[in-house]
Amino acid sequence: MNTKDVIVVGGGPAGIMAAGIAAHRGNNVVLLEKNDRLGKKLLISGKGRCNITNAADIEGLIENTPGNGNFLYSAFYTFSNQDLISFFNELGLETKVERGGRIFPVSDSSRDVLAALMRFLDKNKVKINTGANVKRIVEKDGSAAGVELADGTLLEAESVILAAGGMSYPGTGSTGDGYEMAKRLGHSITPLKPSLVSLVAKEEWVKDLQGLSLKNVSVSFKNSNGKEVFSDFGEMLFTHFGVSGPVILSASRHLLAYDFKDVSLFIDLKPALSEEKLDERVQRDFDKTSRKQFKNSLDELLPQKLIPVIIELSGIDQHKPVHQITREERKRLVSLLKHLEVTIISARPIKEAIVTAGGVRINEINPSTMESKKIKGLYFAGEIIDVDAYTGGFNLTIAFSTGYLAGTSC
Ligand SMILES: Cc1cc2nc3c(=O)[nH]c(=O)nc-3n(C[C@H](O)[C@H](O)[C@H](O)COP(=O)(O)OP(=O)(O)OC[C@H]3O[C@@H](n4cnc5c(N)ncnc54)[C@H](O)[C@@H]3O)c2cc1C
Repeated sequence: MNTKDVIVVGGGPAGIMAAGIAAHRGNNVVLLEKNDRLGKKLLISGKGRCNITNAADIEGLIENTPGNGNFLYSAFYTFSNQDLISFFNELGLETKVERGGRIFPVSDSSRDVLAALMRFLDKNKVKINTGANVKRIVEKDGSAAGVELADGTLLEAESVILAAGGMSYPGTGSTGDGYEMAKRLGHSITPLKPSLVSLVAKEEWVKDLQGLSLKNVSVSFKNSNGKEVFSDFGEMLFTHFGVSGPVILSASRHLLAYDFKDVSLFIDLKPALSEEKLDERVQRDFDKTSRKQFKNSLDELLPQKLIPVIIELSGIDQHKPVHQITREERKRLVSLLKHLEVTIISARPIKEAIVTAGGVRINEINPSTMESKKIKGLYFAGEIIDVDAYTGGFNLTIAFSTGYLAGTSC
């Protein structure tokens, strides 16, 4: 194999994997990162625990990648999640499986994941240039020929791997530079949208619940025709603008097609009880508190913060003695507890999203090599490509697998 000069732009998981593998195959590799260190986003991933990948089989990985999952068959078959787990284990990082097949480091520390990747780069003698802000990719006669840095420095190479990430959490360095670089070389960028993102609600009362976390609730999202778009069970959070938390972030990807509008969220606050059982439960509580005012009857049923909101929405006078509450009013309360409706009007901006949906158009990239179909010797890896997945370790799997494929193909 010929030794080539390879430049990798972006020191996130995709770029690190691409650089290490390209060097392992005997190339001279320089990894350029504009931050003063690599893997800033990786460090905050999984709330600092880094959900590296998922234990699903390859079909499962594809199914969990609603944004152009089919494009990734070659990448996943070349370097699968199982290969990734072995890769980390060989680098001395032990892993464990959690709920939903999520794979984490045993130490629960993303620092250990980054440290393992740094050992990998070191072992393969990748030259790391931090503080290197790449401005453009240099092209000569239809081929990638190197890069130009923001300070005007020109660096030559026979292959360039562009792994500059997406546009979310710009503080980590993912500011969308890669899209501009790709565009200048004739690539199209599909619309960039937030995914795995918190949602903005119309109702004012949501603000009163700011900070309230609901652990075991069922959520169901319905479109304007009443058709269910997504349902899930788990944890959600109220914020000053709307709703967030694990089930909401997962749901958000399903609302992308609706542009996060004209959708209602229905929260079942008591999913373990049917409407009849909940009615019985409320009746028992009402029997115990029959001489009290309505506002003092819900303490055992609901978190304190939620009580005034539910009272307001129920339309029952908060001062009404419990024994005077009618059957109809009680039924209305029960229905409210089973179907608390929140109108979704938008999503928070991309900078707050976990991932960017959209990116370099996939039919302009060879899925077997990650090479550009427009510029020879230019490769793409990671979130910059128009692929995106659900939560659960799938997005990092994409970064590592496409990085590996680009690194072995360049
Ligand atoms: C809060 C949060 C938690 C997450 N948790 C998980 C999780 O647990 N599991 C999971 O699977 N996914 C998770 N993700 C998503 C995952 O982190 C990303 O999909 C993944 O990091 C993408 O990898 P990448 O290498 O393509 O891009 P990035 O990690 O964004 O790396 C791109 C790098 O390129 C550099 N760069 C950009 N422009 C230039 C330039 N002009 N010159 C030089 N360098 C440049 C950036 O500084 C950056 O270091 C999370 C994301 C966020 C925001």
